[in-house]
Amino acid sequence: MTHLTTLDELNQQITVLASVEETDALFISVYLNLEGETTDWRETLNDRARLLRLILKDDDLADFNDALDKVEAWLDTELHPEAKSAAIFVRGIFGGAFMLPMQFAVPLPNWIAVYPTPNIYHLVELKDNYHRYIVLFAMPDRASILEVNLGAATTRAWINNPDLRTRVGQEWGRPHFQVHQKHRGDRFMHEKIAVLEQLMHAGGHTHLILTGDPKITKSIRLALPEDLADKLVDIIPTSKRDQQTDIVMATLSSFIEHEEQESRSVAEQLIEGLRSQNLAVAGTADTLTVLRWGEVDTLVMTSDYQPDPGWTCATCRAMGIEPPETSACPQCGALTARPIDIREAMLRLAGQLECTVEVVEHSDELMSLGGVGCLLRTHFDTKTDAQTAHVSASS
Ligand SMILES: [Zn+2]
Repeated sequence: MTHLTTLDELNQQITVLASVEETDALFISVYLNLEGETTDWRETLNDRARLLRLILKDDDLADFNDALDKVEAWLDTELHPEAKSAAIFVRGIFGGAFMLPMQFAVPLPNWIAVYPTPNIYHLVELKDNYHRYIVLFAMPDRASILEVNLGAATTRAWINNPDLRTRVGQEWGRPHFQVHQKHRGDRFMHEKIAVLEQLMHAGGHTHLILTGDPKITKSIRLALPEDLADKLVDIIPTSKRDQQTDIVMATLSSFIEHEEQESRSVAEQLIEGLRSQNLAVAGTADTLTVLRWGEVDTLVMTSDYQPDPGWTCATCRAMGIEPPETSACPQCGALTARPIDIREAMLRLAGQLECTVEVVEHSDELMSLGGVGCLLRTHFDTKTDAQTAHVSASS
């Protein structure tokens, strides 16, 4: 994949990664930040590889070397010049070969995880932060419509003002010009809005940013039909000298801010739901239970949610918080219980359910409730539904 990953692709890949069955072999998740100097990510990769080669033995070591060779080969040949980050998910041949590389126009941290299944937190966070939106860039003589998809901008339409050329030298000063000019200005405006409406509707877009000449964006704002006005995130003035990259960067930071506000309002909805005992749960244990049960609409977590390890059993697939002291499974008694990363376990379940995940940057209220919760589709009955959750997880 030599192109930058799109939101649709990322959605599919998250489902794929969340569904990867674990084997005896280790799964390697490589996140690299490609901004600035190459030495940083190179050092992270080399240091981690050196350390793991000291720890791993036999098949695990061979598998790791095989996996890392694939990562290096991909980095050598497939990196897009505009990529600011890469995420590569790989497992060696003994464990069931797997390789899924992605690259993005937005940054990720340098981070390498070795775990039985893919670690997808940073993908989920990136998706929630950057998502996609439409930008209408409007100047007196021209307009263009951009789609910004996970931070990568593509021009979707150009609209020129055809009447401006005739204005120069010909009609200036004529008494009837004012009337025509007003009429023509309206036509140009309506054309822009019509194209915008069509593109947003066809692409299922839910967010719009207006940018360009302040006078023009103001009059477009006033002329926007209600459904587009509802989707308006921000209006950002630009100067004539701004390049497209400056404009995209300005819209990105405004969008991230707006997205954080949306995440916070979902957290508020969750807290309201808890208060009225209606379609919401919070806290690590309850969230894990309802995710296994399945009727979840949205998983909400704070970005600093760091739960203690939980446990799962390879035999009966039971799962819980507070790991047993030995490997004896509290459910079935087999000696196959092992610790798990609870946050990743939740994201895996959410990925398999294809439910929305909101990562909230700051929410003291959600933190005080354990940092995590779910909005539900239907009421959860502690007795019967917990039973269902247990049975479906055991089958
Ligand atoms: Zn068990």
